[in-house]
This record gives sequence, C-alpha cells and structure tokens, in this order.
Amino acid sequence: MNDEPAHTSSYDVIIMGGGVAGLTTGIQLCRDGTRVALFEKNPGVGGCCVSFRRHGFVFDAGVHALGGVGNPGSFVGRFIHSIGFDLGRDFVRYEPAERFFVRGEKYEVAQDFSCFVEGLKQKFPKEERAVEEFFRLILKIFRRRADWTRPVFEEYLPFTYQDMLERSFTDRTLKDVLAGFTGYLGYRASEVSFIAVCLMLGSNFYESSYYPKNGMGAFAVTLAERFRAYGGSLFTGEEVCEVCYDSPYYQVTTSKKKAYRSKQLVAAISLDRFCSIFPPAAQCFQNARESLSMFVLYLGVEADKGMLAEKSGWYFGESDSYYRIHIPTLIAPALAPSGKHVVEILAPIPAGQNEFASWVGNNDKKRQYRDYLLNKVSKIIPELPNSIIVEESASPATFHRYTGNKNGAVYGLAMCPEQMVKGRPKIMTEFPHLFYVGHWSTPGTGIASVIYSGLIASEAIKMSG
Ligand SMILES: Cc1cc2nc3c(=O)[nH]c(=O)nc-3n(C[C@H](O)[C@H](O)[C@H](O)COP(=O)(O)OP(=O)(O)OC[C@H]3O[C@@H](n4cnc5c(N)ncnc54)[C@H](O)[C@@H]3O)c2cc1C
Repeated sequence: MNDEPAHTSSYDVIIMGGGVAGLTTGIQLCRDGTRVALFEKNPGVGGCCVSFRRHGFVFDAGVHALGGVGNPGSFVGRFIHSIGFDLGRDFVRYEPAERFFVRGEKYEVAQDFSCFVEGLKQKFPKEERAVEEFFRLILKIFRRRADWTRPVFEEYLPFTYQDMLERSFTDRTLKDVLAGFTGYLGYRASEVSFIAVCLMLGSNFYESSYYPKNGMGAFAVTLAERFRAYGGSLFTGEEVCEVCYDSPYYQVTTSKKKAYRSKQLVAAISLDRFCSIFPPAAQCFQNARESLSMFVLYLGVEADKGMLAEKSGWYFGESDSYYRIHIPTLIAPALAPSGKHVVEILAPIPAGQNEFASWVGNNDKKRQYRDYLLNKVSKIIPELPNSIIVEESASPATFHRYTGNKNGAVYGLAMCPEQMVKGRPKIMTEFPHLFYVGHWSTPGTGIASVIYSGLIASEAIKMSG
C-alpha cells in the first residue's frame, strides 16, 4: 500500500481543531477574504462545546454557560453580534446567575452581581469593608486583562485564590462561600490562580453568562455555518496526524492520507497532541500540567418543574468532593419532550495519568461512580432515581476520546499560578507564523477566554500576512 499523501492543496491558513477556539479564528480570517482550511477529527464540530440527542432529549456534553455574552460591549458580545446572533432571540439568561449550597445553606448570585456583593455585606457585616475591597480588586484586574504587562498582574500572579481569601477575610463561612466560584475552573481554591478567578468572575458575572436556547452544540454548529458561509473550507472527520515546516510552508498530513500546505498555521488542539504531531514544539512545553477532568451523568427524567426548581447549582459539603447539578430545561424547555427534563450531574475527577488510566475501558468503575453520584443527588432530589427515562455518562476516558484533550482534561492547561500569563504557551509562538489558541494557550480556559484567543490570533495573522 502506498502511504504517501495523495496531493497537496494550498491555503493561506490551516487550522487544526474545530472547537470554539479554532472556529472563532477561522471565522475572523475568512470574513476578510483569507483562504482557510479547518480540520476537525470528529464528524462534528464543537470540541467541549457539543450536544448529543437521545430519545428526544438534548444533552450538553460539556459547557453549560457562555461567559461574556450578556455585555454587548465585551469582546464576546461584539463577536457573537457581528456574526448574526441576537441576544434576545438566541439566548436565555440564568436566573439567578448561579446558586451555591455550602454545607446545606443556599447562596444565590443575582444577575446583577452588585446585588450579590451587597447581600454578602449584609450577611457578614463585620467583613463589609473587606468584601467591598475584594470585589473592587477583582474588577480592576478583570478590566486590565487586555494588557498582561500591567503591574497589577505581576503583583497578584503568585497567589492562589485561597491565599487571597485568607488575606482578605476572617469569617470561615464567607471564605467557603466565595471558594465556591472555583467550581467553574475545576479546582479547589488552594490550587487555582487568583488571576484566573478574576477573569472567570468578570466574564461570567460582571458581563453575565447566557445559555443558547437550542443547547450548547447548536452554538458551535452555528459558528461552523458562519465559517462556511464566509468561504472557509471545513474538513470534519479528518485528523491532522503530522506537521512539517519547510520554510516558508507548513505541510500537514491528515488521517485521510492527504497533504495540505499553508504559510500560516493555527493549532487549536491539546498541547500533548500538538507536540506529538509537531515534535519541535515539545521542547518548549515540557512539564505542562493539565487541568482536572470530570465525570458527568446525563439524565432524561419525567418530572414536573416543582421537583427540580431551585435544585441547579454547586454543592459543597464537609469533604473535599463537590458536584454541580445542571438543569437546562428549566430555562430552555425545547431540549426535552413536553413534561420531561434534562438533568446533568458534573463531578470533578483529579488530573493525572494514573487516575486517567484507571477509567479507560473500566465499565465497573463507571457504574460504581454513577451509583455513588446518584446516591448523593438523591439526598437533594429524592424522586430523581425513579424518574429516569434515559441515561448516559462520560468519564475522563470519554472526554479524552472525543476531544483529544490530555487525560480527558476538561479545562485545558491547569490555571494554577505557575501556568498563568508567562507560564502559559503564547498565542504567537516562537515558531514562524505558528499560532496557538484555545484552553491550552493564553489567556486560559472557558468559552470567553478561547474566543478571546481566536480574536487575537486572527488579528496577528492578518497583520503578519
Ligand atoms: C464537562 C465540561 C464542562 C465545562 N463547562 C464550561 C462552562 O460552563 N463554561 C465555560 O466557559 N467553559 C466550560 N468548559 C470548558 C470549555 O468547554 C473549554 O475550555 C473550551 O470549550 C475549549 O475550547 P477549545 O476550542 O480550546 O478546545 P476543545 O473544545 O477541546 O476543541 C479541540 C478540538 O480539536 C479537535 N482535535 C484534537 N486533535 C485534533 C487533530 N489532531 N486534528 C484535528 N482535530 C483535532 C478535537 O476533536 C476538538 O474538537 C467545560 C468543559 C467541559 C468538558
């Protein structure tokens, strides 16, 4: 059999990876006339931002909130508006924006984040001044995010979120409530960078997060439609297996044994996979630590609203473990047949090769974890186990299989202090005309950040063009 690539097609830019980062970069380039080829290994686009359908239920496999969407002046707000999304028509708002249950007590984060801050001041009057200063600092850092050289970043870069909670407050309960926000980044407060929490709080709460009415996957599919409509060439089901640089061209070879070349290349895929298909990159990114993974239980249930009302949110107990209940059909009923609901339960799973390996092909472990999680949630919603009509689950092995992210990491490169700003791969890499976007790159994880990386990369590519 001849293993040589069949022929070589040329583009201005090749993008590897059809998650939100790759799609954003592609859209921004194509709309200005750049000839772009985007390769996605799966039959469909979206990466972590996909939905799947079972017996009339639509489940979000990964993402459940789009940060930054609520502010038309934010870069996310401007981007989605510029490609034809309409906030009122296409998205719904979480109301309240978030809910935490800390040792059984409920805390609601109002859509107007200042109301939440005021509520904390009233509930913890001795900490009133500290609360005020803490959130002022968060907002200051968030607003300066476009320029990492600002002194404020240098000053707070070494700190974890827990460091800052300890420095700012004395009340244990207040610290525990505020630590709840780190669920969004998949870490305990003692591990996650304070700067990362500032970025997340800014886009999710100051700029507000929304939910696409037709589910998260529909959002990514619309991005792909726009990419194509602007003239982009989308190759799904075609994995990039090898990259070579022979100045001035990058040549990529795909799983279909085809070769393509371009002067500019964008990687929007997992760091370890990128290093394996382009070995020179491996020297630059040694010892990179991935984020943790998740176990997700996807349930289609027969239930009335009353049974599920006010149950979605993050649940923190005495032990180190926590989980989230996500019920999108309370705000987007079209995702389930009439009278039925989608309930998803997400629990973080530690990062690392050993933990990951223990899930691969291990259906017993999956079943046991499913029972453990369902047992926990049945203390909150006792009727849930008997209401299940449809059920699926995803383990770290599942996330690895679908996204290619190392060890099933759901948030890309870990957002710990050492891997923020200078410690992360840059969008403009040290290789000529090679750009790196997405949650393994700068600024970090989550939809708002990966859209930002795509916008920055596309501008840089146009300038260097
Ligand atoms: C369970 C879960 C819950 C989450 N919740 C939220 C949330 O509520 N809000 C939020 O903002 N973020 C959330 N996130 C994080 C967010 O989804 C990610 O940070 C973001 O979607 C990453 O986008 P990306 O484009 O960088 O990478 P990915 O989404 O990982 O996309 C990479 C793509 O590249 C493809 N690929 C890999 N290798 C190759 C190759 N060699 N050739 C071609 N294609 C390749 C993959 O198939 C994939 O489609 C969540 C993630 C998960 C998994």
